[in-house]
Amino acid sequence: MARKYSQRPSAARPASSRAPAPRPEVEEHLIGAHISTSGGVHKVFERCAAIGCAAAQIFVKNNMQWMAPPFSSAELRSFEEHRVRSDLRVLFGHSGYLINIAATGPNRVRSIESLTLELGRAEQLGLPFLVLHPGAHLGLGEAEGLALAARALDEVFAAHPRGSCRIALETTAGQGSCLGHELEHLVAIREKVSQPERVCYCVDTAHIFAAGYDLSSEESTRKVFTQIQLTLGLDLLVAIHMNDSKTPLGSRVDRHEHIGKGKIGLAAFAWIMREPCLAGIAKVLETPKGRDMAEDVVNLATLRELAEGDRVFSVKQG
Ligand SMILES: [Zn+2]
Ligand SMILES: [Zn+2]
Repeated sequence: MARKYSQRPSAARPASSRAPAPRPEVEEHLIGAHISTSGGVHKVFERCAAIGCAAAQIFVKNNMQWMAPPFSSAELRSFEEHRVRSDLRVLFGHSGYLINIAATGPNRVRSIESLTLELGRAEQLGLPFLVLHPGAHLGLGEAEGLALAARALDEVFAAHPRGSCRIALETTAGQGSCLGHELEHLVAIREKVSQPERVCYCVDTAHIFAAGYDLSSEESTRKVFTQIQLTLGLDLLVAIHMNDSKTPLGSRVDRHEHIGKGKIGLAAFAWIMREPCLAGIAKVLETPKGRDMAEDVVNLATLRELAEGDRVFSVKQG
């Protein structure tokens, strides 16, 4: 049964929430960022602690290479030692950018091999899910592409028959022949795989906005998330990528921007942060940053302020 989103979640907040909230010792909101694993996968925990992440996403190997060896026992031991001392509440993976599960020919073989290997590495780390783009049909058409994607996932799951790490299909901006710019594409793939219980979903705000889902006001955002709830289901929505967009609504071009600095603006992020139905869903930034992650600190502070604040965004700001 569909849960009803509150019309104005901000209206119920007490007046005292006008005062800027002190930064909590342990992050209250399930927010964070995509975090580098440079120097070893265990490094993610200290980086998350440094910028105050409660949730984080990582690549499970170099995202621009096809293959990598499994994690060594020393790497896994170090990862576990750091994990048990960490306050991080949700850590999940994002698959590499070369993988196209809707491809044919040699690229299909390499994509399935690479994703199989990545799922194995995600399993080694005990990650709950691995985010994956649904692929590009490269001219074959959407129906054929969706069928190819589902069959590729069947092969990957068959290689890990007892795996517990799920694949989270991500919405896309729909550049070129990329699948996933309609919520229904993700559902179609899940319905075609032989083990649908191993597939869940991730929504990227910049991608859906570029794909034509209007996030320019609180009201339009509530409508889009009602559509998401009715199509994907909130129980299967495991992560939200919190990115503003350099490109306009319906542009079909994927360019991430800092929160509130792009064409989406603050209203959508305020609505998402204040909506109680989404409180348990991991929300991570994939916005540009330098090595010191200073930009993440600013964006996370913006999200926190939007969550705590009671400013009403009836029209797009800026
Ligand atoms: Zn992605
Ligand atoms: Zn994303």
